[in-house]
Amino acid sequence: DTLVNQIAAGEVVERPAAVVKELVENSLDAGARAVEVEIEQGGAGLIRIRDDGKGIAADELSLALTRHATSKIGSFDDLERVATLGFRGEALPSILSVSRLKLVSRTADAEHAWELGGAGHIDGAVPRPAAHPFGTMIEVRDLFFNTPARRKFLKTEATEFRQIQQAVSRIALSRFDVGFALRHNGRRVFDLVPAAGDEGRLSRIREICGDEFVTQSTAIDESRLGMRLHGWIGLPSFARPQADLQYIYVNGRLIRDRLLAFALKRAFADVMHSTHHPAYVVYLEVDPASVDVNVHPQKTEVRFREARQVHDLLFGAVHQLLRRLRP
Ligand code: ADP
Ligand code: MG
Repeated sequence: DTLVNQIAAGEVVERPAAVVKELVENSLDAGARAVEVEIEQGGAGLIRIRDDGKGIAADELSLALTRHATSKIGSFDDLERVATLGFRGEALPSILSVSRLKLVSRTADAEHAWELGGAGHIDGAVPRPAAHPFGTMIEVRDLFFNTPARRKFLKTEATEFRQIQQAVSRIALSRFDVGFALRHNGRRVFDLVPAAGDEGRLSRIREICGDEFVTQSTAIDESRLGMRLHGWIGLPSFARPQADLQYIYVNGRLIRDRLLAFALKRAFADVMHSTHHPAYVVYLEVDPASVDVNVHPQKTEVRFREARQVHDLLFGAVHQLLRRLRP
């Protein structure tokens, strides 16, 4: 029911960037190799996501938009994911409950696409035939149109869009094999082709983090005690006034973790004689059994069995690298 969905929406979609994150993750779950994100008015006007994933069958469109009707649970790993991320099967119904939503999709074996949508609810609407290539398109218009108090809390268009750009960037830095395009008010923000090899990866880093980061950073790749740390470390000369270029992934998942951020901060402290913030994009690969992902739903913190070793790897490898580079 709409009210329950709106309450759930408070958890899932606190702002346009959260909608974008959920929808892009759905595209990736559907095996998309290319995802296009089109935004108008910082997401308050329009969020449109297109993908070339496996699509949604006609008879599953209304299920996808109905609370608790869907589930990707098919294994123990999925169960763990549910425990970890929470709110499974609630994103689409929640988003629908606070927007004018249209879902158009075509599976590989369908003769044509089908569409279904509504404003706040679908209330017995049935899918209609539509023209669309294989894959899925979701349009979310007028977010929070029916919850004015929430709509009032949206920040400026520029701020909301910056959050969206961050959200897409974070995902794009974890899936180099998928193409991502982002537009705002008809203007191209980035167009990331699937990246193969070091060169391709670097060119994606350049598009997301900027030329300056690429010229003023150094690659790192260190393995210790069965863990691997790789990525790019900004030189101290590239220190930023804000901590806005810090990405840490653990086993492919973006993490905001005090311990890890602290280890890097400490490594830089020695060589950075300013109050500015270091910039980095790093990937930590560890034995999945050595990290506890069973933490609070929307948070991205992790608990390591051997926290000390992880801290020491990050601190040690980065500190050593920075000292070696010191003039
Ligand atoms: P969840 O992702 O937790 O299953 P969602 O509400 O985000 O729940 O999505 C509901 C369902 O709709 C998904 O389980 C999936 O079956 C389907 N779906 C959503 N987006 C897509 C997409 N882009 N491509 C294919 N299927 C999708
Ligand atoms: Mg989802």
